Amino acid sequence: MIFSKKAEQILPSITLDINSRAKKMKTDGIDVIIFGAGEPDFNTPKNIQNAAIEAIKRGCTKYTPASGIDELKTAICGKFRRDNNLIYTKSQIIISTGAKQCIANIFQAILNPGDEVIVSKPYWVSYPELIRLADGVPVYVSGREENDFKYTKEALSGALTPKTKAILINSPNNPMGAVYSRDELLVISDFAKAHDLILISDEIYEKFIYDSSKYTSIANISNDSYNRTIIIHGVSKTYSMTGWRIGYAAGNEKIIKLMSNIQSHTTANPNSIAQYAAVEALNGDQTSVKLMLKEFKIRRDYIVKKINDCNMLSCVKPAGAFYIMVNISKMIGKVIDGTLINNSIDFANVILDKEKVAVIPGDGFGASSYIRLSYATSIGSIKEGIKRLITFVEN
Ligand SMILES: *Cc1c(COP(=O)(O)O)cnc(C)c1O
Repeated sequence: MIFSKKAEQILPSITLDINSRAKKMKTDGIDVIIFGAGEPDFNTPKNIQNAAIEAIKRGCTKYTPASGIDELKTAICGKFRRDNNLIYTKSQIIISTGAKQCIANIFQAILNPGDEVIVSKPYWVSYPELIRLADGVPVYVSGREENDFKYTKEALSGALTPKTKAILINSPNNPMGAVYSRDELLVISDFAKAHDLILISDEIYEKFIYDSSKYTSIANISNDSYNRTIIIHGVSKTYSMTGWRIGYAAGNEKIIKLMSNIQSHTTANPNSIAQYAAVEALNGDQTSVKLMLKEFKIRRDYIVKKINDCNMLSCVKPAGAFYIMVNISKMIGKVIDGTLINNSIDFANVILDKEKVAVIPGDGFGASSYIRLSYATSIGSIKEGIKRLITFVEN
């Protein structure tokens, strides 16, 4: 029997593969240090938990409008006004089952077969697959490490074709932690205007910025930019709510309507209880976000120093998010206990087997001489894991 050709081309996530092997080792009682987490290691704050419990007791357990409840749309509009000085009306907002579903919706809403979306490399693993699922074509732009792999005008021009429909921006970015400055965003926004492209701005890590105080969204650059940008956001990372599955998008009313129509048939509304919890997340006390950021910064600084002190490894200090991409190119081509290290997948497998340290191979992000370390794990584990990693590469 022949199944869907499209589905058979979708690659399974490499991230999940190593993580599940590591978790299995942990349950088998092996002392394994896991640097694979793609989610904060903190609990969802109490006030948010309580809002969910209250929502259940009030009977908010039925279908809601497909694109989400009014209370949460109002809270989202408030967030954009307060944090970003961006004015949206409720008809410009959709709430989905995670930011991931917003991204899936938008590609379905804007792409025709063969339409191209420009994606910077290294990229978040799901972008290419979601573009392909919508019959689009991801076109990669490889930046330079010195520039945090960010877009430049030259690189964008090189990727442009008559089929280009949109540019995907992720700032702060997963996996590099790169943050775009206002000037860098201006270049992208001018380019989008000149070629009439849609800007998709994944801002899920907005609150995780370490050294500069102000975040700039590309929607802030100009009126034109505001009109052609769809912002993707959510509560998963900011409030340690990954399992609750609430994401949202804001932008052009017509595109949002198309996304809502698609969602109304695929999943209908996102979880009703989680939507009420998200209202509290956005409107309630924000202390937990500050505490989490402070802790992440301590961990980031520790890892960056240790990695750059080791002459076999190097990394760029990430400006945001909670990942560090470690350059392992000096390890490629080496033979360790009879195993030739050809790429980051080989390296990740060897270090998991030999040292019981789980790292994510950069191959999943299109960067085969890197491994990704997440610092969403305790400082104690980080110290032990980094010690093992460095001892391993130095021998
Ligand atoms: C985690 C993540 C998302 C998805 O988050 P949801 O849990 O689906 O809201 C989207 N983009 C990037 C870059 C991420 O790392």
